Amino acid sequence: MTRTAAFLGLGAMGGPMAAHVVQRMQNQGGRAVVWNRTRARADAHAARFGGEAVDLTEAARADVIFTCLPTSAEVDEVLEAAWDGLRAGTVWVDCTSGHPEAARRQAERLAERGVAFLDAPVSGGTVGAGAGTLTVMVGGEVGALEQVRGDLAFAGRVVRVGDVGAGFAVKAINNVLLAANLWTAGEGLAALARLGVDLGAALEVINASSGRSNATENLIPRRVLTREFPATFGLGLLAKDAGIAADVVRDVRGSAPMLMQTEALIRAAATLIGPDADHTAALQLVEQMNGTVIR
Ligand code: NDP
Repeated sequence: MTRTAAFLGLGAMGGPMAAHVVQRMQNQGGRAVVWNRTRARADAHAARFGGEAVDLTEAARADVIFTCLPTSAEVDEVLEAAWDGLRAGTVWVDCTSGHPEAARRQAERLAERGVAFLDAPVSGGTVGAGAGTLTVMVGGEVGALEQVRGDLAFAGRVVRVGDVGAGFAVKAINNVLLAANLWTAGEGLAALARLGVDLGAALEVINASSGRSNATENLIPRRVLTREFPATFGLGLLAKDAGIAADVVRDVRGSAPMLMQTEALIRAAATLIGPDADHTAALQLVEQMNGTVIR
């Protein structure tokens, strides 16, 4: 039997990730199928990268099923809609930045059909997805991961971080750290802007010093100072991730006032600036709070 991989959800991340999976399956003599809620996107993907655009029941018959959707709620919907096509022995690899609780529930539900579930969110952004260099953090059984490790064609690095749900927890904590770094750098730069300091010079110093982060080295110079805010990772998605991180903290009865504060601020920014703006546009709220512009 020809081995088949299915990729469901061809958005900003899923589109380029699926292209790598299609290419790998073709090189291996396997079959790749793609599905997207808006069918035209799947047709365009198949026309450009190969693979076949199929309906959901057909996609559900694959040996490995990838999903990359906004939240675990959409994964729930797709899972139930795909239910009739699922076959025992399949591994469902969810690359959504999802919720650990949902992962445990989904793993239990899929086990009823003999399907294994791995939560396998990714980091590296749309650039990493295009280059096939994403870091994948996997929660779930070792055996299931080994069954599909070779299919993770979009990965530069694969790290198993624990049982089902652990991948989503690590991703949420990573992203609330991104939010905290971005937000606090914005606060500091807004103060310097009010002082009249040249922000390019300030960043040159910070990036050669201990206050640097990906926010100061890449995001702020390329997206904020330029005023471009290119929408590659939505502010609403970052607020969702920070909310999951807050749930993780509460779930373990942890104490994380800085992370909780960050979650509240990013949620406010997503409400006031808009969920579809790039995540770096959160700093437009910092600008409003300070009556200044970070440029
Ligand atoms: P996009 O908004 O670009 O894509 C979302 C995808 O989900 C589209 O294919 C969309 O289909 C589909 N979709 C939305 N709602 C439904 C639904 N109800 N049923 C079925 N399909 C649905 O999101 P991203 O690709 O940016 O993000 C996907 C995941 O990856 C998120 O969890 C995000 O947090 C995470 N992520 C994003 C990164 C980034 O840089 N963008 C980086 C790392 C992780 P349609 O075409 O029909 O709208």
